[in-house]
Formats: sequence, C-alpha cells, structure tokens
Amino acid sequence: IPVDPFDLVVFGGTGDLAQRKILPALFRRFCTGHIPDSARIIGAARSDMTLDAYRAFCAKAIKTYGGTRSCEDGTVQEFLSRLDYVPLDAMGETGWPELVHKLEGCAAGRVTVFYFSVGPRLFGPLAERLRHHGMAGPDTRIVVEKPFGHDLESAQALNATLARHFAEGQIYRIDHYLGKETVQNLMAVRFGNMLFEPLWNSQYVDHIQITVAETVGVDGREEYYDRAGAMRDMIQNHLMQLLCLIAMEPPAKFDPDAVRDEKLKVIRALDAVLPHHIVRGQFEACLDPDHPHPSYRGSVGEPRSTTESYIALRTHLSNWRWAGTPFYLRTGKRLKARSSVINVMFKDAPHSIFGEEAGRHANLLSIRLQPNEGITLKVTIKEPGPGGMRLVDVPLDMTFAEALGPDGGDPPDAYERLITDVIRGNQTLFMRGDEVEAAWAWTDPIIAGWEARGDAPKPYPSGSAGPTDADLLMRRDGREWRGIN
Ligand code: NAD
Repeated sequence: IPVDPFDLVVFGGTGDLAQRKILPALFRRFCTGHIPDSARIIGAARSDMTLDAYRAFCAKAIKTYGGTRSCEDGTVQEFLSRLDYVPLDAMGETGWPELVHKLEGCAAGRVTVFYFSVGPRLFGPLAERLRHHGMAGPDTRIVVEKPFGHDLESAQALNATLARHFAEGQIYRIDHYLGKETVQNLMAVRFGNMLFEPLWNSQYVDHIQITVAETVGVDGREEYYDRAGAMRDMIQNHLMQLLCLIAMEPPAKFDPDAVRDEKLKVIRALDAVLPHHIVRGQFEACLDPDHPHPSYRGSVGEPRSTTESYIALRTHLSNWRWAGTPFYLRTGKRLKARSSVINVMFKDAPHSIFGEEAGRHANLLSIRLQPNEGITLKVTIKEPGPGGMRLVDVPLDMTFAEALGPDGGDPPDAYERLITDVIRGNQTLFMRGDEVEAAWAWTDPIIAGWEARGDAPKPYPSGSAGPTDADLLMRRDGREWRGIN
C-alpha cells in the first residue's frame, strides 16, 4: 500500500548515513511502489551543490548501497527526478528561506518529515530553526538519529529542547535495531504463538544472552567513538532495546504507547550492575600482514585512551517474571565474527528418565539478527540408529531467506521499514523520551563507577571473542557464551 503523499527533508543529505542507508532505503521503497508520485525528497546540507550534482551523488549511493533489489536505469532516473537539494546551514540563516519556499503551497494535511541525519549538536538548533521559520506545524514529524544524549542530563536537556517545538507524538527517535525484520519477528514469536509465552519466565528460562559482535573497528567515527565507547554507543540503546523486547510483558495492543509503556517498565526494573559483573575491553593491533590494522588506541590517535571497544555484563530484572534469571549482554568491535544474536537458554529437564548416560540437552531458542536472519529452536531427540537411547540436539530452523521464498528472501532494510512508519505516523518502533532517559539513568552510574575506580579496559586480540575475563564472567556462573566464543 503506498503511503500518503509526503515531503521528506533529509538534513545531512550528503552525509555517510544518507548515502549508505536513507537514500537507498527510499529508493527500494520506490521500486516496490510504496512512494506516491507526488512525494518529494529534499536533501539539505552544508555543501554548496547543484541539484544535478546531488542527483549524481544519490545515483552513486543507490548503485553502491542499493542492495540486491536492483532496478533498471529508467527507474533510477524516475526516482532521481523526485529529488531536490537545498544548501543550508543548520547554525545560520543560509538556505532556510529557500527551504521554506520549496515547502510552501503544499496542501494542509500533507505529511512533512524532517530527518535529522546530522551530528547531535545540531539536533536542538534544527528544531529551533524549524519553529522559527514556521515549519513546525501539527502535520510535521521529526526523525532524530542516535546518539540521543551523552548521559541522562544531556538527554533530558535535548528532550526539553525538542518538546518546546514539537509534541512527543511528532518526535521519532530512531534505533534502527527496532526496524530489523527479526526484531519484529521476536514480538510475533512471543505474542503470536501459544507455545513460548507460558515458558517465558524464570521458572523455565535459565538465562538469556544478547550478543552484538562486530568485525569492524571505529573507522571514520574515531572522535565520536572515543567519547562514547561501547556502553554509550551500543548497550544504552541497541542492546537495551533488544533486552526490552525479550523481557517485556505482553502489551494489550501493538500500538506505540502500549508497547513503549511495557519497555519502560523493563528498563526501570533493571538492577544496578555490580562491578564484578562487568568486563570492559579494548582491541589490540592486528599484525597479520594481509589484514593489518592498529590497536584501538592507535585507531583513535589517543595513546592513553581508556574508552572501551568491548563490554560484557550480567544484569537482572527485579520483577515477578524474571527474578533470578541473569541477562548477559556483550558487544564489541574487531571480534572474530559479525554476529547479532539473542539466545534464550531454557533450563534442563528436571529429571532424565533415560539416565544420565543418555546425555542432557537444554532447549535453546536462538534469534539471529545478522547475518542470516532467522530463528532456530534446538530440541532434543533420540540419536538415530540402533545404539540405544542416547539424546542429541537438532535444530528446528527458520531462516527467513528460505522460509519466505524467492520474493520474500530479501527482507527490507531496517531503514525502509522505519522511514515508512514515520510517514504513516506509527511510533511503535521508535523510542519515547522517557524510555531513553530511563536507559541513561541505568547506564550513568555504571560509567561513573568505573570512572571513580579508574578501571582500565582489558586488552583483547583483534579477531578474538573478546577479553578472557568475559568467559570467566560466564564460567563463574557455570555457563558459557553461545555463538562466538
Ligand atoms: P556525516 O559527517 O557523514 O554527515 C553529516 C552531514 O551533516 C553532512 O551532510 C553535512 O553536510 C551535514 N552538516 C554538517 N554541519 C551542518 C550544518 N551546520 N548545517 C547543515 N548541514 C550540516 O555524518 P553521518 O555519519 O551521516 O551521521 C549523521 C547522523 O547519523 C549522526 O548523528 C550520527 O551519529 C548518526 N548515525 C550515523 C550512522 C552511520 O552509519 N553513519 C549510524 C547511526 C547513526
């Protein structure tokens, strides 16, 4: 179903995110017929570019990052004809009258979206200028990229600035993890089946692991990353959102406030993390002559940096459903594999009627976000053959690319889904202001704790599974990491 006619202004339309994600996502939606003829996409950025140069820039972005749903040249040209460009300064007056002029004369009720794909210091000034130039009407929506604040205080200040100009219902704080097909499937699996929900609690679940492992370093984002580190860059937002969806109570409806109310309750029920339940790491240089790269400190050019490129932690939820079930989160850069996965580890059967020699295997539900999106349930069966009753694990596997067949095998990118939701006015997969603040309220004392103690991150070899202390964190509890280890 095509969305209603809209104008989308991409502030930062010449930036890295615009070229890698936003423009290719819009193009793919266009290819599937979801973008109506009268829709307009206006890039706005500091570069003094002509419209032709901007269209050439977008054509290249589509070619490079458009993915497997390639389209014929004619379609690309048709898409490019919807594009416009305004050179504009978010901190000054340059370009604003031209943008106002371009948006004038649109029918009332037409949706106008302003996507803030610029550095976070510009979020507040952009909101102020939109109001000042009369573009903050009731049909306006703003999309705010991450990072949303650096700590609780700055997030509160940003929320307050945005709230002066826009109602909460107009603000779409993006966390692209929520747009991933598997993440939405997590909700479908939990709340669309009778099978799992009765077991989804501390009585049957031994523990839950959430891993987001990356093979890349901090290239191109050195300055930002060295101020943020893995805690602020990944745990406070992406892993926290995954934790919320795994742990929340069933919302009464799949609507924005019902879902976000439940997520907020999860964050507020999180216990403080004890110092010995957290491991911080920093990657070392890779000396392999085929893939050499500097250490974390060398990458960011700060020989004494104590910023972490890796975190593993154990936390708990103080609520009726989850009391006693540990949640282990880990994320890091320059690890041995790129893998984002949630593992729900069920408890052992209380008694083995086959005897201990038959072996015991606990059930495991693995939800893979990337690569190879899908869900696998490990169940125990008899080892085939005449050798007696021995038990083995077999996977019941649903890899989405296979399950959905040739047409559905290329799931939409998270940004496709999320941008469409903004235009449709659906905030379910976006973070509410109070959720973001609650996540910072949990994160801040952890960071303050290691700053006060002067904790330094542990070095770990590039291409490894992270610091060995992260394995100890698990082993002390008689458990082990699944996925990469
Ligand atoms: P970038 O530096 O590549 O691009 C910044 C854009 O902002 C450029 O188009 C630039 O012209 C524009 N800009 C800068 N100052 C301006 C001003 N005064 N007035 C108008 N325009 C101005 O940054 P990016 O990587 O595209 O990131 C954009 C935002 O998205 C940031 O908040 C970033 O944290 C977030 N983000 C980026 C990624 C990514 O993969 N690049 C991922 C997640 C979030």
